[in-house]
Amino acid sequence: MKCPFCGGTESRVKDSRDIGDAIHRRRECEHCKGRFSTYERVEKFSLMVIKQDQRREAFDRQKLYAGIRKACEKRPLPAGEIEKAVEEIEQELYRFGKQEIPSNVIGELVMEHLRQMDKIAYIRFASVYRSFGDVETMFEEIQKLLNREKPDANSLHQFIEDSDAETYSPGDV
Ligand SMILES: [Zn+2]
Repeated sequence: MKCPFCGGTESRVKDSRDIGDAIHRRRECEHCKGRFSTYERVEKFSLMVIKQDQRREAFDRQKLYAGIRKACEKRPLPAGEIEKAVEEIEQELYRFGKQEIPSNVIGELVMEHLRQMDKIAYIRFASVYRSFGDVETMFEEIQKLLNREKPDANSLHQFIEDSDAETYSPGDV
């Protein structure tokens, strides 16, 4: 640990405090007596998603959010409900304690949450998910859609049509 004033490498810890998500240490440089602080934090590992074709992608909270939001489009959900679902799903993923998560685990979690949130959103999501078979790929296509790019997959049009339709019969699925 280099002193920010003189670059000296020897310092003494004068005070150490737990501040919740980190340990704060006050140090004094042995060489110039300059004082500085260091913080020690647990390193959050980044989650990787294993897609169906075995490729890995970094877990992307934004993508998850966009996917759920798309399924819930025009549904009468209380504000903050989608954010809450995303947060819970993310926590559940970290709680597995694994660095790599198969994408179908994420798909299942999303369905579980949607089922409790809104029946129509759940059915929409489930039918599109079923045709993709891979939730990561599905999220990528949804993102293209939101960026107003042309989606590659035809099955996504179902999403667009469903959210535009005024009535929706679950029996159609
Ligand atoms: Zn120094």
